[in-house]
Amino acid sequence: MSSQEKLNFIQTELEELKEKGLYKDIKTLEGPQGAWVQIKGKKMLNFCSNNYLGFANHSQIVEAAKKAIDEYGVGPGAVRTIAGTMDIHHQLERKLAEFKGVEAALSVQSGFKANLSAIPALVGKGDTIISDELNHASIIDGSRLSRADIKVYSHNDVDSLESVLKENPPGKKLIITDGVFSMDGDIAPLPEIVEVAKKYDAMTMVDDAHGEGVLGRSGRGIVDHFNLHGEVDIEIGTFSKALGVMGGCIAGSAQLIEYIRQKSRPFTFSSALTVPDTAATLEAIKILSDSDELVTKLWDNADYFKKGIKELGFDTGESETPITPVMIGDAKAASEFSEKLFEENIFAQAIGFPLVPHGKARIRAMISAAHSKEDLDFALEKFSKVGKELNLI
Ligand code: PMP
Repeated sequence: MSSQEKLNFIQTELEELKEKGLYKDIKTLEGPQGAWVQIKGKKMLNFCSNNYLGFANHSQIVEAAKKAIDEYGVGPGAVRTIAGTMDIHHQLERKLAEFKGVEAALSVQSGFKANLSAIPALVGKGDTIISDELNHASIIDGSRLSRADIKVYSHNDVDSLESVLKENPPGKKLIITDGVFSMDGDIAPLPEIVEVAKKYDAMTMVDDAHGEGVLGRSGRGIVDHFNLHGEVDIEIGTFSKALGVMGGCIAGSAQLIEYIRQKSRPFTFSSALTVPDTAATLEAIKILSDSDELVTKLWDNADYFKKGIKELGFDTGESETPITPVMIGDAKAASEFSEKLFEENIFAQAIGFPLVPHGKARIRAMISAAHSKEDLDFALEKFSKVGKELNLI
């Protein structure tokens, strides 16, 4: 075999992805994230970002990051257990804990990393994870990494969850659910999950990636939304969505966070969050703590768009949040819909298998407080035009 031949599988598999329509064509943005973005010189209305509150390019947050760079530089030096923790990380973690109403929080470099850090620290071989079938990939990967036995329950179905627990699976038991499910925009039945967990002495963990900045008072998240303070053992957060930055966190009791700090391999072997990310996230939480104006605007926008899109004759599935799936069904039709919207200056991604089941392809419209009513009217007009052209409404 020649040195090139051993790499032939790469070419073959890339071609296969293209043939199956699974090749990811990633768009290049020529400027910041916002309600509108520039792609190939064209101004496009942005329905693809998780920038729920418009914080990704918020002047006060940008300024905070710049100021912190002047004061601290950009990098943390090494892993915290060796290079030490910068006081700005402590400031962020204290603010996060206060905002979420928990004793303590630990920041890491991403939401994905938060799941990889927490799950294998808490459970291992001989223990059992009980996981919603639609949980995020980072929960699935964190669970696999832990080597615990993984039992999957039907989506948001507490009876299905209980039937797993009734079988008395071995070891420590950890129930994990997304708070808001990112493809459908539905919310986990957290109060019922907590009840069942109590009955069977199981730990509970919620990944609040799409609930932070969206649900609860001033965007305090799903636990606040259901008033379940002190009832959920582990909360996972990300700074990359409503907070507009990048990073992740684990939140809970002071003892739990100390345990993760001592036991988590990603925490021990990977460097801390960068200075600008830390400062920007801290500023984003300060803005949220001071006012619920943007969260209110986000929900007004989401309600307005959803009402409009339903009046046009589209179905938005199970959505209860600003994540608005516009159901198309066939994957090819959804791609065509997205391409036609793109021609009409709307950047809205088609989502198909394997992210959602076959026959449930959709356009996912991510609504933001950064959108104006005029933006949403523009979008509704274009969804109507393309929907009629494709005989979908
Ligand atoms: N958890 C959930 C539920 C998510 O939706 C995401 C982002 N897609 C993540 C974790 C990962 O977050 P990050 O982008 O900060 O790594």
